[in-house]
Amino acid sequence: MSADCLFCRIVRGEIPAKLVAESDDCVAFRDIDPKAPTHLLVIPRAHVASLNEATDEALLGKVMRFAADVARQEGIADSGWRTVVNTGPDAQQSVFHLHVHVMGGRKFHWPPG
Ligand code: 5GP
Repeated sequence: MSADCLFCRIVRGEIPAKLVAESDDCVAFRDIDPKAPTHLLVIPRAHVASLNEATDEALLGKVMRFAADVARQEGIADSGWRTVVNTGPDAQQSVFHLHVHVMGGRKFHWPPG
């Protein structure tokens, strides 16, 4: 856990968030500024700054599996959904606690901007 990390603070309940699912290892909550009708953030409870620092392969697997479970729970699994993991400045990562964007409920374009 990191004292100042925004998403660690959400995990600890110090900052309110619209939680949609929790497990021993992961938390999913709604993005405060959604870019799709369904836009969730799936994070590990443990503080990992970004994919660059992620070394726990089992945890990464759990996060992705949890994202798929949440997508099904939200009703976007069958029509199609997108995951995005922004890593570092050029990708415009703005919160340095690893998170998987889970988006659905509309048609997406490719390639992304
Ligand atoms: P990034 O830009 O790092 O890939 O994504 C960070 C995401 O966190 C953004 O989509 C942003 O809207 C979201 N976000 C930033 N602050 C908060 C917050 O306080 N609560 C919630 N639920 N989402 C946040």
